[in-house]
Amino acid sequence: MSALRPAAFVDRDGTLIVEKNYLADPAGVELLPGAAEALAALKRAGYVLVMVTNQSGVARGYFDMEAVARVHARLDALLAAEGVALDATYTCPHGPDDACDCRKPLPGMALAAARDHGLDLGRSLVFGDKAADLGLARAVGATAVLVRTGHGAREEATAAPLADLVADDLAAAVRTLLKA
Ligand SMILES: [Mg+2]
Ligand SMILES: [Zn+2]
Repeated sequence: MSALRPAAFVDRDGTLIVEKNYLADPAGVELLPGAAEALAALKRAGYVLVMVTNQSGVARGYFDMEAVARVHARLDALLAAEGVALDATYTCPHGPDDACDCRKPLPGMALAAARDHGLDLGRSLVFGDKAADLGLARAVGATAVLVRTGHGAREEATAAPLADLVADDLAAAVRTLLKA
């Protein structure tokens, strides 16, 4: 029996919280309906909760990592009020031209999380509203879930072929997966 645990990798903008173009103001953090409850259900089912977020606004000079940290602190507080906590958060601060290994769809953040938390990537889930999120899932052999919140509905035509499941939002996706 493996001691490795499965993770639920959850994208931030458009998946866990309302998509706001390059959000830098903690006051703008808004949980999507049912998202906190969905995280709690995933945790009860044994998944390690890992948020993985591309924040190219840092590389573009729109905001700095301190601003990202303030947004994440606000998000953590909103989740705590709903009785759930992320186990870890990974942020890629790079831009498309930085040749990093962590900007989704590249697998750097998931691989780092696997090392840090002893994760079984093949039994893990990745939730996101963009093709890049699903590409990350494909890169590590995880289950790829497209949500129609955020950019999801607009990206569905191009992203759906990469997805194992397409659902209206995180809450609906988790209901389907945990029932199966
Ligand atoms: Mg997103
Ligand atoms: Zn990066």
